[in-house]
Amino acid sequence: MGKATGFMEYERTENPYRDAQTRLQDFSDLHTAQPEAIRRCQASRCMNCGVPFCQSDFGCPLHNLIPEWNDLLYQGQERAALERLLQTAPFPEFTGRVCPALCEKACNLADDGVTNRDNELYLIETGFEKGWIKPRIPASRTGKRIAVVGSGPSGLAAADLLNQMGHAVTVIEKADRAGGLLMYGIPNMKLPKEIVERRIRLMEAEDVSFALNTEAEPESLKAYDAVILCGGARKPRSLNVEHMDAQGVHFAVDYLTEATEAVLSDTVSFLSAKDKHVIVVGGGDTGNDCVGTALRQHCASVTQLEMMPAAPEKRLPANPWPEWPRTLRTDYGQLEAIATQGGDPRIYETTVQSIQVNEQNEIVSLTTVRLAKNPEGKLAPVPGTEKTLPCGLLLIAAGFVGCEEATLSRLSLQADNRGRLLPADGSHHLGSKLFSAGDMRTGQSLVVRALADGRAAAKEVNLFLGEKNGF
Ligand SMILES: Cc1cc2nc3c(=O)[nH]c(=O)nc-3n(C[C@H](O)[C@H](O)[C@H](O)COP(=O)(O)OP(=O)(O)OC[C@H]3O[C@@H](n4cnc5c(N)ncnc54)[C@H](O)[C@@H]3O)c2cc1C
Ligand code: SF4
Repeated sequence: MGKATGFMEYERTENPYRDAQTRLQDFSDLHTAQPEAIRRCQASRCMNCGVPFCQSDFGCPLHNLIPEWNDLLYQGQERAALERLLQTAPFPEFTGRVCPALCEKACNLADDGVTNRDNELYLIETGFEKGWIKPRIPASRTGKRIAVVGSGPSGLAAADLLNQMGHAVTVIEKADRAGGLLMYGIPNMKLPKEIVERRIRLMEAEDVSFALNTEAEPESLKAYDAVILCGGARKPRSLNVEHMDAQGVHFAVDYLTEATEAVLSDTVSFLSAKDKHVIVVGGGDTGNDCVGTALRQHCASVTQLEMMPAAPEKRLPANPWPEWPRTLRTDYGQLEAIATQGGDPRIYETTVQSIQVNEQNEIVSLTTVRLAKNPEGKLAPVPGTEKTLPCGLLLIAAGFVGCEEATLSRLSLQADNRGRLLPADGSHHLGSKLFSAGDMRTGQSLVVRALADGRAAAKEVNLFLGEKNGF
């Protein structure tokens, strides 16, 4: 194990954010990395528990061998630690930046959990820096051809594993760049896009083919021995109010995609929040990304509306460790709003009642209303609590309701009542040579779950093709 007394000697130390005022001037990485000495101390806090909850079902969906690589990192054996990490984690440079780190919340050190995410990021970035990460070309090929539709984390993870198994993999992606929400969705400051591109280049060097700007069509898929659909759960939940078609009303992912395209081309986004009063509907992580992006685009103000009450500061008895804590989190965008606007941008138990537009059909303001439980226990508007706020940009980050209908109809597929392509037996096999994985199969989730699901689908496909290569 690490150091017997490490967890008592050293306090949990995360990679710090850059100062809010400074980081708001650019779209560069939020965090600053810490040196080897600190990471080794942090790794030494791991107790190599008899029951390591970090890698259990409460913790890491990839079942990363956390105590093993923490111990190797503590002992200064970085390369061996990285090899152990890569046995289960296909892309630690993504999870090391954007994972909410379920493992840390499930850690036996509870609120002071070992900083597994930062340790993982340190290992993979050290690997890239020192040239340890090299293209791995399989020794032999099986002659089987597989199409992966969608290049988000689930598609990339499936493609990576199937390629290592010796199959010929083509990733079909309708966007102009690969990465799914890693590229267009998660903002650059959380996951710099050169990090995504670096991995795509590595996969190309390993002989994975990427067909970009390409929609999956039934005819073109016929040429493959198996097809995995990894198209995501990208249909946004809308608001049931008039003027949703007004100029200045956008779904969060469209806005965030446009913002990333502007960063990548070093131009100003045509959906820019500059000088506008921005209202974000949805108090979750996507909403927070909109807050951080709008502040970087120099909005006049930003407000976030959340239907539900604020989560409690501490775990409730019904939500014990090692479950994920359903407690109040103030994320980077909200912290930036507090630093610049002097208060939390979130307004709880509130929704949009109506949108007002001018003669050009541009949004000018909206009316909010408080919500409270009615006698039937359902949230309902409270009369007399209406407020009208100026608004030049309304961003809808109210969640996702399943996979996109265009993909379903093009491929003649039927989703379940929650918009998922989830086979009735819980597997990944939809029938014939068709499989599904990631958000498209499970509904909107997390990068780490999409990675785990992509790898699970790849193993099913490998068995389906009759290749038992020991993965
Ligand atoms: C704004 C935002 C921020 C997020 N932040 C985080 C975070 O910080 N941490 C975290 O863990 N999770 C985060 N998530 C969730 C996470 O990004 C998703 O769970 C994950 O990306 C799902 O991966 P996926 O591969 O299933 O699908 P996606 O990433 O959605 O990728 C699907 C891909 O399929 C392509 N596609 C769809 N249909 C077709 C077709 N017919 N033909 C060709 N290509 C097609 C799409 O263009 C897309 O590139 C965030 C989500 C959003 C929206
Ligand atoms: S639960 Fe925490 S302390 Fe225990 S092995 Fe996992 S990371 Fe280490």
